[in-house]
Amino acid sequence: MNDNRNRRIEPTGQGRPGSSQSRPPDSRPPIRRARRRSFVGPTIAALVMTVLVIVAVVVLVMLITERAKLPSGIDSETDLSPESIDTSEVTSLPETSVETEVQTETSVVTEQETDPDTETPAASITGYKTVSLEKQELHKGDLILINYQYEYVFPEKKNTVNIYANKNSSYLLSSSQLELEPRTLDALNAMMLAFHSESGSGDVIVKNAYRSLEEQKSLYDARVSAYGEENANKYLAQPGHSEHHTGMCFDLGIYKEDGKLYELDGVAGYADWFKDNCGKYGFVLRFPENKAAITGITSDRWHFRYVGQVHAETMNELGLCLEEYIDELRKYPYSGDHLLVTTSSGKKYEIYYQYASDAGKTEVYVPENLPYTISGDNALGFIVTVSLSE
Ligand SMILES: [Zn+2]
Repeated sequence: MNDNRNRRIEPTGQGRPGSSQSRPPDSRPPIRRARRRSFVGPTIAALVMTVLVIVAVVVLVMLITERAKLPSGIDSETDLSPESIDTSEVTSLPETSVETEVQTETSVVTEQETDPDTETPAASITGYKTVSLEKQELHKGDLILINYQYEYVFPEKKNTVNIYANKNSSYLLSSSQLELEPRTLDALNAMMLAFHSESGSGDVIVKNAYRSLEEQKSLYDARVSAYGEENANKYLAQPGHSEHHTGMCFDLGIYKEDGKLYELDGVAGYADWFKDNCGKYGFVLRFPENKAAITGITSDRWHFRYVGQVHAETMNELGLCLEEYIDELRKYPYSGDHLLVTTSSGKKYEIYYQYASDAGKTEVYVPENLPYTISGDNALGFIVTVSLSE
């Protein structure tokens, strides 16, 4: 038996004279090589099999855990249905990157990589001119602050539109009468379409949107008569101090097929998606639980406010609520360093703040060569946001 093995192995071991495959004679007895081969082969096979089995089990466990976390109808990102539209844009965008104009890092600023493919070349401001703004402009814009301290100043002409007449079919409404400010509605439509595409769920419901002064007043008065003033103040903004007056916010819930209404965080998978993705569409969760001491609102985990993508992503990046963000922007005056921000879609912006003058109009400095927007903060001044990418 051993002799047979020797003979079979020998030709390859010794090589053929003149052959390119020839190698020096092996000093070890051929029998050992034969044994070693027959031993090593099965061992590697067994190892490979073991590794494959372990990998398969781990993948299986991960899949099961991932599915268990999601509500029915919501698939994980890796398991999107083929008809899902354009999820790549939503799922693969890089994080916002924030940096100051001077390249030194500051304590509040974090810097993250932006995908160079999505970055657009940045222009720079070549010079400034001024625009003259009336005092009432302080109460208009994406960044107006409405809270217990700062009252909303209603515009002369109502600036909201009916949602039902302008919505897509990817979400529900609690009433066909709900209204929103037009750009907020556009952003809501875009966000809900993305959620529907990714999750397959069409059961998110807009519960509240624009509220007139009268509506807030009757809600508030009803609460006062039922539970007393202290309770009402805990759960409802005083008439005039509700962000819902702006038409730039809404409350989301979940309306399941069983006819039950759930809070947005009442079914797994929903609240996390909106928390992670709302910034791309210009929204912030206005009242995070850890900011209750600043906002004065304890628990409102379904209330989204429109501030525009660049500000929403920057607020999320810096971990600031609107009150803190406005304070932060005041550190970037026109005459000092400006805040430079890159959005997740690669667009660059330059942001600075200018206090309103006490008397009459304010001359606000704006770039002479680039597009910009101005927002009042409803308190002390104006925020200029310059687009460097167009
Ligand atoms: Zn709300």
